[in-house]
Amino acid sequence: MKEVILLKLGEMVLKGLNRNTFENALIKNIRRRLAPLGEFEVRMAQSTVTITPGEGADFEGAVERVRKIFGVITFSRACVTEKNMDAVRAAAVEYLRPQLSRVSTFKVETKRADKKFPLNSPQISAEVGACLLAAFPNLTVNVHEPDVTVRVEIRDFGAYVHGEPEQGAGGIPVGTGGKAAILISGGIDSPVAAWMMAKRGVELTPIHFASPPYTSERAEKKVAQLLARVAEYAGRMYMITVPFARVQEEILDKCPEDYFTILMRRFMMRVSERIAQIEGCAALITGESLGQVASQTLQAIAATDDAASMPVFRPLIGMDKSEIVAVSRKIDTFDLSILPYEDCCTVFTPRHPRTRPELDEVRKAESALDVEALVNACVEGRRVTKIVPGEV
Ligand code: ATP
Ligand code: MG
Repeated sequence: MKEVILLKLGEMVLKGLNRNTFENALIKNIRRRLAPLGEFEVRMAQSTVTITPGEGADFEGAVERVRKIFGVITFSRACVTEKNMDAVRAAAVEYLRPQLSRVSTFKVETKRADKKFPLNSPQISAEVGACLLAAFPNLTVNVHEPDVTVRVEIRDFGAYVHGEPEQGAGGIPVGTGGKAAILISGGIDSPVAAWMMAKRGVELTPIHFASPPYTSERAEKKVAQLLARVAEYAGRMYMITVPFARVQEEILDKCPEDYFTILMRRFMMRVSERIAQIEGCAALITGESLGQVASQTLQAIAATDDAASMPVFRPLIGMDKSEIVAVSRKIDTFDLSILPYEDCCTVFTPRHPRTRPELDEVRKAESALDVEALVNACVEGRRVTKIVPGEV
């Protein structure tokens, strides 16, 4: 039996005039994600994308990848048949046998896009229903709360039969929401923040601050691995690694210890903003959550934002740690995130960080540094690593 994947689109169908842009971005993203698995035909009609595998293409692999494409609300594996009732009935019995033999109630729903088909939708549903009742003695019809809804779609280029659709990744297609730079560490939070913004259509440029010799190569590699998992949703990206030890040493050397963290975060914002501008990004994203640590109080966040003029998105701001962990498990980054490798933020930590820094005091503390020269050195020292979905 020949199988296809049918995808139903999410919110994007509501977007009026932008609809074409959204649909085109989605199709492009699907084609790109499936390309390594063989030939697939991807086409859009009536708010449904149909993915048809070519000879030898990895269909199971495609189903797994489709699960992680933003802009898809639900998807179904469906069986393709000829457009006649004998073929449709036979397909319903055989293709749905595994599902239908396990349940006790069903109904049939038909969509007839091809108005030339000789039977109308209620007639098709009735015929298929009668045939399934005869084939499965365990089944009765329940139109209000069926265990399984059997779906028949008669389209211009073929008929499809499928069962209950699965949840898609939701969101809107990556690339339709502009570009933003995500400040990414090896922790639990920032990969989740990255995923959340990609879900809203944002294309990501990850920026990672590394402090060799205080931080190791394996810590950096872990960040690349985390991003490769996020990239299964967000698409391929180019991670920018910034050498940060010099900035940290200077702050440690020349500024009061209790301002260390806030000053360091101001440098991260400045350097990220400069790189974001070079990369054509319109905003910064962090994984901060209000009150989680000393540098994430309202006052500390205000003192951090003072260093950058771009909008800074903090998608986790109102989430509890347990909620963030739940997402990180769902997107499969948790097990990597908890590997205990050092981050540049953890190698130097003040004993008594300021939780309510006064902006004047922060600026005064910072005045001991040649900010411009330090930022320039970070920007000039950056390196680029290509991140391919699922690979490191
Ligand atoms: P995470 O789990 O994302 O590391 P966190 O709760 O440990 O977050 P912090 O270490 O205070 O919090 O970092 C807050 C945010 O600052 C991170 O979510 C991330 O956006 C950014 N950040 C922290 N360390 C780095 C780094 N080494 N490179 C780039 N961004 C970083
Ligand atoms: Mg961290």
